[in-house]
Amino acid sequence: AAEWDRFTASTGKSGEHNVRASKSLPLGVTSSFQHWDPYPISIASARGAWLTDVDGRQLLDLSMGFGAMLVGHLNPVVVERVQQALTSTGTLFVTPSPTATEVAERFQKRFGLDMLRFTNSGTESLMYAIRAARAYTRRKAIVKIEGGYHGGYDAMQVSVKPALADIGPGDAPIPDVPFDVEAGTVYVVPYNNLERLGEILAQHGSEIAAVVMEPVIENLAIVLPDEGYLAGVRAACDQHGVLLIFDEVKTGLTAGAAGAAQRLGVKPDLITLAKSIGGGLPLAAFGGTNEVMQVVVDGRMAHFGTYNGNPLVMAAAQAVDDICTEDALDAAEKINVGTLDQIDGIIAEFQLPAHTVSLGVKGCVTWSTTPVRNYRDYKATDFQLAELSWLWGVNRGILTPPGLDEQWLVSLAHAAVEMDTLVEHFRELGQALRG
Ligand code: PLP
Repeated sequence: AAEWDRFTASTGKSGEHNVRASKSLPLGVTSSFQHWDPYPISIASARGAWLTDVDGRQLLDLSMGFGAMLVGHLNPVVVERVQQALTSTGTLFVTPSPTATEVAERFQKRFGLDMLRFTNSGTESLMYAIRAARAYTRRKAIVKIEGGYHGGYDAMQVSVKPALADIGPGDAPIPDVPFDVEAGTVYVVPYNNLERLGEILAQHGSEIAAVVMEPVIENLAIVLPDEGYLAGVRAACDQHGVLLIFDEVKTGLTAGAAGAAQRLGVKPDLITLAKSIGGGLPLAAFGGTNEVMQVVVDGRMAHFGTYNGNPLVMAAAQAVDDICTEDALDAAEKINVGTLDQIDGIIAEFQLPAHTVSLGVKGCVTWSTTPVRNYRDYKATDFQLAELSWLWGVNRGILTPPGLDEQWLVSLAHAAVEMDTLVEHFRELGQALRG
């Protein structure tokens, strides 16, 4: 309660802004993820790794736009290229352009894709990847992972972080009832469970177009695949002629210069990308093997979008591709490893009921002493401590992502000294919890 009092005392203008904004925008925000109780902090501007809120406070940004700001806020290369597009290239042609082709060629190479198409959001990319899988297999049903989030498309609005009351605690079985949504039938399986996936595919494989999953779940803090799990999913899909779609909207460049699939050595049929590839501009993509992407070439499906591949966003993508070299990402990852080591030390020193999990430049503290392998394990972690840890940071000038299921990001604008601030505050939190 004292921490919440401290929050409201230092964020008065954000509170006032939320009252005003709520009169035009439901909940006073433009995406339901932007809302939290009692009200979210409103940001006036950002630069590098820092945010300035409407109360004039400086906050170290560890959310970095859910990972979209991997290159840092107002990255000079992005600014220069976008400015050039704005002032001399034009912002929209709705015709092919050499810039879009060049970005496609770069992404083709970087992410190991035969072909890809641009969209404007992760949600759209998921929708079209699913459409492509359905067109290719001539099947309609989809399998997704329990608790997983994949954007706002109807077929993905199933079992998104459900309440425990709706799934049963512990290892209660997932209801054997397929979800019948507007966009077709969806089966739900737990992450890291090949047996359950095998059963669903054996029973319903002939009607299933694709398994959709994040290779590493980054919407439940960070949940890593067990050794061999992703290869097992790949093999199970192959056995039943089911396509594998890796949703790399959150992993992408934050998992490494070529994304999570290549880092983990498992090749999906289709991949969705967004966030980190656009330098903060609305860029997303879906792509995959030549064989599957032929569905767009030969008209088995269509893919549309007025703003797809527009010059402004493509200019930002070129900049991101230039900036996100293996060396640059390795350096940020090294800083992250240093941060994680120090936080691990504090957890041990104060015997906190927690552990760290990381992938690439992202990391998180999970408030549980046992590893989290799936959604139910995640629901059994200590949410009170997670909330306190988040609020503790916010009250001391660190904005970690505004959901207890998110992770911090070491962007290319974060220096080790900035990450030390996180470590310092975590140490104080440890002391307070043990004191
Ligand atoms: N897929 C995953 C894994 C995501 O985390 C998100 C957004 O957070 C999406 C898809 C949807 O992306 P967008 O918000 O760009 O529509």
